[in-house]
Amino acid sequence: MLGRVTLFCLSTWAASVVADRPEADREDVGPTAPASRSPFAYANVDPLDDDLVKPPDVRPTCEADLAAASIAYQPDKLTPLVQPDTKIVCGAPQVVAYRESPAKIAWSPSVLTTCTMALAIARFETIVQEEAVRAFDRRVAHIHHLGTFDCRPMLAFPGWVSEHSYANAIDVAEFVLEDGTSIKIYDHFAPKQPVATTREAAFLRKVARRAYDEEVFSSVLTPFFDRHHVDHFHLDLARTRSDGAAFVKPR
Ligand SMILES: [Zn+2]
Repeated sequence: MLGRVTLFCLSTWAASVVADRPEADREDVGPTAPASRSPFAYANVDPLDDDLVKPPDVRPTCEADLAAASIAYQPDKLTPLVQPDTKIVCGAPQVVAYRESPAKIAWSPSVLTTCTMALAIARFETIVQEEAVRAFDRRVAHIHHLGTFDCRPMLAFPGWVSEHSYANAIDVAEFVLEDGTSIKIYDHFAPKQPVATTREAAFLRKVARRAYDEEVFSSVLTPFFDRHHVDHFHLDLARTRSDGAAFVKPR
């Protein structure tokens, strides 16, 4: 939803800029070859499917992709079913119990999620380790999360289906370094400060920024986004993109 609005504004802006320039200054603005994506980019950047409300599509190569990335997992099931009260279709056709990636972070509780989310979570672990070593000279041993699967509408937008309904999202609350140091989003993110003033805040913000900018996830919502995310990062692979990793001046 937010991604679609952004795309619309950008395309409108680009058209007006070209129209205002003298004829002689205009360059060819025709189609260009798409920039190549990172092999670790799993975000859905296709604007044509933004309005679809249904469980994520099957990724035909997913199990081979998991094996190629040395990700430990077990196939699992959350068969899509219509919930009688909300009429939301919950579940997904391709679900795994995520165990471990080569970055070797332990998750608690255990992670039941879509197959493509498992790939994205493994990439997220790599980013977390790079930034933890940069910030603290230590690796992360554990991540605590608040859940993946929860059949419900979005908290902030009643009537919109949460990606949690498809186990296509995870809410990350705390990172624990190998020396036991705890970095909690609620305690350390400091969303009212435009610029991070602690190592912990800088680490958290950099991790969220990279997770969005490197297209690991479609949505990255942080305490900057709204009050519903004051204690966690919401990471998902929705069909739309939402950047909630940037400071927004309070109104
Ligand atoms: Zn969430």
